[in-house]
Amino acid sequence: MRECPVCQTSNDDFAIICRSCGGYLQNRVPNLNLFETMWSVFDSPVKAFRRIGLAEHKNHAVLLFGVFGIACAFTLLWLFRWGEFFDSLLTLIAWGTVLGAAFGIALHPVVAGTHWIVAKLLGSRRGYREALGVTAYALSPIVLSVVLILPIELLTFGIYLFTSNPHPYALNPVSYVVLLGLDVAAGLWSVVLLAVGTRIAQSMTVGRALAGSVITAGVIIGLLALVGWEVTRILSVAGIPGLG
Ligand SMILES: [Zn+2]
Repeated sequence: MRECPVCQTSNDDFAIICRSCGGYLQNRVPNLNLFETMWSVFDSPVKAFRRIGLAEHKNHAVLLFGVFGIACAFTLLWLFRWGEFFDSLLTLIAWGTVLGAAFGIALHPVVAGTHWIVAKLLGSRRGYREALGVTAYALSPIVLSVVLILPIELLTFGIYLFTSNPHPYALNPVSYVVLLGLDVAAGLWSVVLLAVGTRIAQSMTVGRALAGSVITAGVIIGLLALVGWEVTRILSVAGIPGLG
């Protein structure tokens, strides 16, 4: 709640002017700058998500989901060992990037919508757009891992990152464990940021924000597993060698 300094009326946290006297409560935030907002999400997440909640446009949300889609594609390529289906690393990177980005962009209303409904069921009165801003910017660590860690993984292991014979662990166990650990850390960090963002920008208690974030993360992981199994099934039905 935000109390009006003029008439002491309680207003919504994100109100710009007082609903009773029309007095000024806080600055409007018309737009979000991508790098500034991402930096702020790492540096002072509470402040960042307040600004995201306040922003009239949740700019760059779709772009962030596009990069997240690339992370999803390479995770599935790795998890389901689809490397055998590609004749070169470049082909794999091209398909993973293009299909991944398209998948992430298509996924954004599903993830934001799920998070909006989950938060609503847990008592949030904020709208779909806030859920979109929160889910998109909570992906910042994963987006950073695509830009910083994925290229190192591709340079270190090449196509063997995605094959079972040889398995990348056998090639370079230390790098494999360290790089994978960083990916896992980025994923967990995103879940924590989702909880912080939900708490702040969707005006929920800590416990409910955390519960809502774990449910949304679970839905995303479930969806990815379904896509992975289904694609693997289609590839085997099509009789492509490599999978039994
Ligand atoms: Zn007032």
